[in-house]
Amino acid sequence: MPSKIDLSTLNQPQREAVEHGEGPLLILAGAGSGKTRVVTFRIAYLIEARQVAPEAIMAVTFTNKAAGEMKERVNFLLGKEAAKKVWIGTFHALCLRMLKIESPEPFTIYDEEDCKRLIKECQRELNLDEKTLKADQIGYRIESAKNELIDENQYAELASDFTTRLVAKVYKRYQQKLATNHAVDFGDLIFKVVQLFDRNPEVLAKYRRTFQYILVDEYQDINHSQYGWVRRLVNDAENLTVVGDDDQSIYQFRGADVRNILEFERDFPRARVIKLEQNYRSTQTILEAAWSVVKNNSGRKEKKLWTENPTGEPLFYFRAESEAEEASFVVREILRTTGGRYGKRARLADCVVLYRTNAQSRPFEDALRRERLPYRIVGGMKFYDRMEIKDVLSYLKFLVNPADELSLGRIINTPPRGLGDGALGKIREVASRFELSMFGAMERMTLSPEEVPERVLRSAAEFVRLIHALLARMDVEDLPTFLTSVVMETGYLGMWQNTPHEEGASRVENLNELIAAADEFRQTGDNTVKGFLDQIALAASWDEQDSDGDQVTLMTFHSAKGLEFPLVFMVGMEEGLFPHANAMQAENGLSEERRLCYVGITRARERLLLTGASTRLSFGNRVYNSESRFLLEIPARCLAGATPLAHQRELKVEAMKGLWGGKSYGGAKDVFADPPAPEDVSQEVKHVLADDEPGEDGLRAGRKVRHSKFGTGTIIGRTGEGENMKVEIAFNRAGRKQMLVRFAALELL
Ligand code: ATP
Ligand code: MG
Repeated sequence: MPSKIDLSTLNQPQREAVEHGEGPLLILAGAGSGKTRVVTFRIAYLIEARQVAPEAIMAVTFTNKAAGEMKERVNFLLGKEAAKKVWIGTFHALCLRMLKIESPEPFTIYDEEDCKRLIKECQRELNLDEKTLKADQIGYRIESAKNELIDENQYAELASDFTTRLVAKVYKRYQQKLATNHAVDFGDLIFKVVQLFDRNPEVLAKYRRTFQYILVDEYQDINHSQYGWVRRLVNDAENLTVVGDDDQSIYQFRGADVRNILEFERDFPRARVIKLEQNYRSTQTILEAAWSVVKNNSGRKEKKLWTENPTGEPLFYFRAESEAEEASFVVREILRTTGGRYGKRARLADCVVLYRTNAQSRPFEDALRRERLPYRIVGGMKFYDRMEIKDVLSYLKFLVNPADELSLGRIINTPPRGLGDGALGKIREVASRFELSMFGAMERMTLSPEEVPERVLRSAAEFVRLIHALLARMDVEDLPTFLTSVVMETGYLGMWQNTPHEEGASRVENLNELIAAADEFRQTGDNTVKGFLDQIALAASWDEQDSDGDQVTLMTFHSAKGLEFPLVFMVGMEEGLFPHANAMQAENGLSEERRLCYVGITRARERLLLTGASTRLSFGNRVYNSESRFLLEIPARCLAGATPLAHQRELKVEAMKGLWGGKSYGGAKDVFADPPAPEDVSQEVKHVLADDEPGEDGLRAGRKVRHSKFGTGTIIGRTGEGENMKVEIAFNRAGRKQMLVRFAALELL
């Protein structure tokens, strides 16, 4: 059979990397330069040309999707038999495989929810108040400790303050419980194997003999435990190939340590380093935009990237008025592109929508559903399947239909209000005795107390009051306001607001999105809870008929690592969202956000569209967002569509240069050579808006002001009166913002 491995399809440095003989090899190269392709080819090459046994090769990828793709490619190059024998997988999958081989006892893997429940059990048993330290917070600390290979005993020794001592107690109990249940959590998968290696050198020696070649993709995001595992497995021949890009390190918040790749040569002094500089994925314009953004980070290793690909279209920027308009624009664009108007008919699967947080998927899901376009969400759940959304919808369903006991069951003790299983048993008894519905029984109990414990009686009465109060509001409040009342009055929102870390924050974001969905629904003319529920139910039933066919992909920037798509939408390009406000609080948070933006841009092969909304609904109030600073870092010449404010003057200068045929003659040179100082941008705006009504308070267009947070800027417009008066200000640094005058505390300059 002729070989399918055609090394002539590789460029020179790629080929050198594939054919590299013995010893450590580092490929540190930019996005789309063929790193993953080199790893795949190298596996095939080692087996075919160097007669290495397939089972002597291990390749580690970052995601299941990447592992699947790599298996497929090796399959294609070498056939099923050989491909099956190569150890290809994520860190977790490979460690699981080793644990299964080495431990005779079967065990269960606990997911996040299971772990959380277990932690809560520990807290209860240890009499630790759940309010002092939330289960999620403890879980996060245990996970971080495991990433650092710190076991429960070491943790206890290191614990130095109140919080860490408390976590130490739970950590110990938690590990005992896992052991009794014959279970492991995700962090354990890697940690246990490392421990196994350290306790049984003969086991480690076996694997070191087995794996003659180890290859690791996305090495920039490896954390300490993953590193420890790989480092132990590498034998004296040091046949370790790692590939990565420090500019794409985006998991530092999860313990990834970029130093592992940057210090590879110190770690393995014999290492050979190969650079790949040609990008095969993207157009020149996309590459230029990506580089212009990431170059603003300091302390990076500069990597040149060039491409033979065409210049391509400029990036397109669309600034919508609202999140709904943003989503409609994206879906219209998808329809247009896949509708064959560009000659080549793109498939839906060529399109991806990338966002910063999971909650942002909602308006896009709704817009796609309206057009009956199938979509899939990678690495996350569809919006209406998420727990918090189902919970709140259950509240609504129950309010509309008090006979719906399935919904009642879901909400009666969520958040906990003393109506657990025991209490429910009592209520059920009363219900069946008097042939009442559950809620009917609760109402009756409060009127004529039966032999029900006082505690249950009180909790039930409280719940009945809550439901009646909500029912009274349902008829008078408009839909989004009512939804806001539901999440607030029931304590449901508060429950998640008090949950720290990503989990709580993302659930709160999702609840906010549900209210935004209600607001959009209201604009169809129907303001009823029932109508809203019906529409969601209908859309969901259509959704289930979905197949794995041609569909649009939706995912977060984080999940998109390593992937590529012909048409990419980067949505929500706004300050606070991307870069995300929470991330900015972490050390080096902005740099990591910027790398994430670089990852996003470099996913695109042909077309990249960036969108943002100038206003978003936040718990019923419209808030104004300014444009993401990343947009401003993309040179104006790479952008079409709307113009980010800071670019407007620059473009004007360019356009006028065009009138002179791109050359500057005599006096014209003086006019255009020195762009005015940044503050002067506002002078143009001032000029345009000169006849705007002057305000008695001096807040008129053109007026310079200072804001404590955003610095100096110029008023470019105002709306509303009195309490509701808003001004729009073009800040010299922070971009354009609208603000309510009464809160803004502006200083006139
Ligand atoms: P990332 O940093 O995003 O993970 P990468 O460096 O791993 O990117 P690949 O995904 O391996 O890059 O390659 C990017 C694209 O370029 C793929 O479509 C790949 O098939 C193509 N490609 C890589 N090298 C070549 C080559 N020598 N000739 C033609 N196409 C190539
Ligand atoms: Mg890759």
